[in-house]
Amino acid sequence: MPIPYNRRTHKNGELRKEHSGQEVILVGWAQNYRDLGGMAFIDIRDYTGITQVKFNPQTDPQAHKLAGTIRREDVIAVRGNVSQRGDNINPKLATGEIEVDGHELEILSKADTPPFEVDDENEAGEDARLKYRVVDLRRPKMQKVLRLRHRLAKAARDYFDSAGFIEIETPVLGKSTPEGARDYLVPSRVYPGKFFALPQSPQLYKQLFMMAGFDRYCQIVRCFRDEDLRADRQPEFTQVDLEMAFVQVDDVLDVVEGATQKMFAEGIGVEVKRPFPRMSYREAMDRFGIDRPDLRFGLEITDISALAAKTDFSVFRDALAGGGVVRCIVVPGGGELTRKVTDGLTDELKGIGGGGLPLTKVIAGAGGAAELSTGVAKFLQAHCAELLAATGAKVGDAIFFMPGKLADVCKYLHHVRTRLGEILNLIPENEWNLLWVVDFPMFDYDEAEKRYVSLHHPFTAPRDEDVHMLDTDPGKVLAKAYDLTLNGIEMAGGSIRIHRREIQAKVFRLLGISDDEAQEKFQFLMDALRFGAPPHGGIAMGFDRWVMMLAQCPSLRDVIAFPKTQRAVCPLTGAPGEVSPAQLAELGIDLRPEVKARQK
Ligand code: ASP
Repeated sequence: MPIPYNRRTHKNGELRKEHSGQEVILVGWAQNYRDLGGMAFIDIRDYTGITQVKFNPQTDPQAHKLAGTIRREDVIAVRGNVSQRGDNINPKLATGEIEVDGHELEILSKADTPPFEVDDENEAGEDARLKYRVVDLRRPKMQKVLRLRHRLAKAARDYFDSAGFIEIETPVLGKSTPEGARDYLVPSRVYPGKFFALPQSPQLYKQLFMMAGFDRYCQIVRCFRDEDLRADRQPEFTQVDLEMAFVQVDDVLDVVEGATQKMFAEGIGVEVKRPFPRMSYREAMDRFGIDRPDLRFGLEITDISALAAKTDFSVFRDALAGGGVVRCIVVPGGGELTRKVTDGLTDELKGIGGGGLPLTKVIAGAGGAAELSTGVAKFLQAHCAELLAATGAKVGDAIFFMPGKLADVCKYLHHVRTRLGEILNLIPENEWNLLWVVDFPMFDYDEAEKRYVSLHHPFTAPRDEDVHMLDTDPGKVLAKAYDLTLNGIEMAGGSIRIHRREIQAKVFRLLGISDDEAQEKFQFLMDALRFGAPPHGGIAMGFDRWVMMLAQCPSLRDVIAFPKTQRAVCPLTGAPGEVSPAQLAELGIDLRPEVKARQK
């Protein structure tokens, strides 16, 4: 009689010694098969765990015989009785105190030899994992991560629902508008030569919801950015996107803190304290060289431009003469750093466009007084006392200097700081450092294009006290923009938006978007701003990153069921793929000869 697989009594991670004697039906995948002393053993697995099933040739010859044919990943059903293992307890298994004496066995589906074992200990290479994702996803680790993903999404949804937000869907087929990255385009068959763009974010739609009176919107939404291939980016990614009307910065931050607290608690059982600390963009850049500082360790940056101006060191003086700065990082105990480490850092900096990494070490001199040794010591010896006073460096420490343009100095010292944190093991694990970075500049000046570009996006509002500088000194205007960071990773970013038409028009002009272009691209926004727009603001949380961080996974690809590779392809389905000439013809698209040639 077939085993009723739709009537399993337990899942494979559930049985304990209290169940001894009970008759059970289990279903799942065969993890392995062993023959020990004439007995057949099969470990049966599902997403909850593994149960050992034993088949006795004396009492159940038929089932025992069939068990001998079982191969890894066969799908099976078992009927049997739970028994205690006695002395053979397996402490590594949650079900390790029991086993099931199998009386009936049925193979529901045979499996070919899998490309790799379903086992967390021996992880296969990523190419194989993504190609045979079905097998990879069976691993306990992947099961755990995608279930955490579900819990985090649910926690966010529940939180926002209880806070009065409603979920409204926004279109996926939209219009190409500039938001930093390249759009994914979808050709229109009905209007050959015209294209839809997939949304980089539902930014303008959510603003329109506020103008339409919905007050609080939240959506867990897929977004698309056709960016140049970068280490850990996905062309499609998920945001927890929200927008609120009649709010100021504090109101948005407060709501996100509430959601964060719930996601941490319900996702991983960690309690995070509120309010989260805040730091201005300027302070973050000055102390850590980055707008998303990892505050779990020190190695802060000190500006020594004034002191550097007094030295005879041409590298310092040239940097200052060019309008730059000289900053440094003191590494406590850094006197011990080997040439291999410091040369390695210099090479890394060269790899990201940097020059050298001047350094010196503080040692105890003849009379016991601190003096500088090695590296650029000779240029700074005369100013040793002042340098130590300014930086707090002590005997035994090393000081790394970076002269140059402010932005470069920040970038390189951030790199040095992060790498030293890793090399010296200064970064504690299992610490959750949440930090708001606020008061971002509105604009960056693009030297190449000779125009301002938005630091966040063109719809971000200037601080009220800075609005007057839009006309006189736009570079100085700070925005009502904020980012939430976790351990040095940007987790969410948003802003209060412009809700006055004339300010939006002014900002477009500053960004080099002409009135005509604004009319063509953003007419719907400008219209909506005309008919009564409430003050509003919002934020988007990078949901894949949330899962990655809370699951403590090294890559975004580990927290997405079917991710694209770093080369933006899907190894599972082979997407993107070619389409037939007929499909192209319908769209009015002809491939360029060199592209056609490549296809052959
Ligand atoms: N739309 C923005 C983004 O995707 C977030 C926001 O301003 O709400 O980065």
